[in-house]
Amino acid sequence: MSTLKAVRGTRDLLPPETALWNRIEATARTVFARYNFGEIRTPIFEDTGLFARGVGEETDIVSKEMYTWEDRARAQSEKSQSLTLRPENTAGVVRAYIEHKLGETGQLQKLYYIGPQFRRERPQKGRYRQFSQIGAEVIGPPSAGSESPLRDAEVLEMLATLLDELGIQGWTLHINSVGSAADRARYNDTLRAALAPVASQMCEDCQRRAVTNPLRVLDCKVPEDQPIIDALPKISDSLDLESKKHFAAVLAALDASSVPYTRNHRLVRGLDYYTRTTFEFTHGGLGAQNALLGGGRYDGLSEAIGGPKAPGIGFAMGLDRLVLTIQNQLVQNSAPPQVAQLVDAFIAPLGDAKNEEALTKINAAALALARELRRAGLSIELGDGTFRLKKSFEAADKVARRIVILGEDELASGILTVKDFASGTQTKVPRAELVSFLSS
Ligand code: AMP
Repeated sequence: MSTLKAVRGTRDLLPPETALWNRIEATARTVFARYNFGEIRTPIFEDTGLFARGVGEETDIVSKEMYTWEDRARAQSEKSQSLTLRPENTAGVVRAYIEHKLGETGQLQKLYYIGPQFRRERPQKGRYRQFSQIGAEVIGPPSAGSESPLRDAEVLEMLATLLDELGIQGWTLHINSVGSAADRARYNDTLRAALAPVASQMCEDCQRRAVTNPLRVLDCKVPEDQPIIDALPKISDSLDLESKKHFAAVLAALDASSVPYTRNHRLVRGLDYYTRTTFEFTHGGLGAQNALLGGGRYDGLSEAIGGPKAPGIGFAMGLDRLVLTIQNQLVQNSAPPQVAQLVDAFIAPLGDAKNEEALTKINAAALALARELRRAGLSIELGDGTFRLKKSFEAADKVARRIVILGEDELASGILTVKDFASGTQTKVPRAELVSFLSS
């Protein structure tokens, strides 16, 4: 029979690597709390229409990469429904914002999420079909200040702080403004006109995009196309005065808080909902998939999915890529490889494998002792009464700092033998003193 494996583009995360994932998530939660963000958890699948309308039919994500299925009705009263595994979380957050009428509080909503997303992309290092994102959104009615450039700058400053606290060195913040929906439409026309005479010299994708979605030409990575793209009109020249002022204010606030950035005229991002500020943090150590995170402002998204006016700004960062970056850094700094943490003690019940009754008794006593020690906050590994002393020592030495021997004599006397592997010392410890002894 052929063996079953994790599906292409998905993978298992095992210890000790999962400890690094947990550390990153814990750091993110701590930083978000300092900026007064609260956690939101939305469902992993949603009505397909949410992404079609929220992310945009024309985008690669919606047109090629979604896991969509027709969910059959289970009763005559139900209708079948097209459902999709979420390819990103902003649309879900904004749907929840609308559904729970969060705008009616009149306050800015500052929400973060951590969880899996799904896209049928071509898998490669740093690109998976199930991947995890940490993201956050600041959204609310305009009266709550949701359109303010200060919100954009604060989110970017928070990200710079988070990456610094995660110990990620050498990131670059790329920033641009794609203006209002009207600015973008104007720029699209300018670009289409500028592309018309040169498109035939470009790659096949660009020839198509030049007609269907000229903005996407700016994402092209084909080397031969780059001189042509560099010579195209820049979006900054198509921005109206309001958008220009907004962008200048974002940059001024970043300058004031010494957050370094690079202006990148080509950063228009893959999702249709972006307006004004767009940004990406990249890292050189990641190879082709060098984007650690991306985001931007989406002032029209709520209305696009049937909600009230609710401007917002947010980002999503790839947890898988954060982990890769940190692992690469550890290798470069020749830090010791990640090792599993040793537990405080290994309890070795010593029984007679042939005497089932005695074995059951000593194993049961060992579990009771482990329960007592774990409840006192110690980390404990539990052996098995069938192990001989030698096997118990070998097993314990791999995972624990000390071994606690629990044989029939120890059970009767209440005095246990503890051996410390680092010092090699062996000590007799009364059971009542075991917690404090092992805690030292
Ligand atoms: P996006 O929603 O495309 O802007 O993605 C935001 C971030 O999520 C990217 O910067 C990546 O770090 C991460 N990301 C996006 N797609 C994938 C993927 N297929 N595999 C791993 N990480 C991804």
